[in-house]
Amino acid sequence: MRLVRSTDTKPELLVRRITHGMGFRYRLHARDLPGVPDLVFRSKKKAIFVHGCFWHGHNCRLARTPKSHVTYWVHKIARNSERDALNQQKLSHLNWDCLVLWECELKDETALAQTIRSFLNESIAPLKEGPIGGKEQNDVRAVRNAVDKSQRKAH
Ligand SMILES: [Zn+2]
Repeated sequence: MRLVRSTDTKPELLVRRITHGMGFRYRLHARDLPGVPDLVFRSKKKAIFVHGCFWHGHNCRLARTPKSHVTYWVHKIARNSERDALNQQKLSHLNWDCLVLWECELKDETALAQTIRSFLNESIAPLKEGPIGGKEQNDVRAVRNAVDKSQRKAH
């Protein structure tokens, strides 16, 4: 079985919508960069990876190893996470910053939006940050509604 790289997964779509909703513009799946980052901000030299916990070997509940073919999966997933580490190293040698967002960490969309924003605004003169504005909260709500709707459709 060949591992097909999953693109346009739900976690990734969520990250894209939130990032776009905050006014950041990005390119998708830059094949010229190590690891083909999911979201790429060229002018900032920043990249975001959205990692599925199982495939990328996150140490969390979602990433439990299947009961059968254990050796196969353990090796496969270990290889994936070694490759991830290597790619992140290569990116940093090219002076790129990267942020890894794990599938299991995307539930709190307000926190997610803050993580993304502080990653992307880093190294820019600090802005005066007030509490999250009404518009942004509406964006997050709109995303959540859209996600709920698409999940309902899927069932
Ligand atoms: Zn996880």
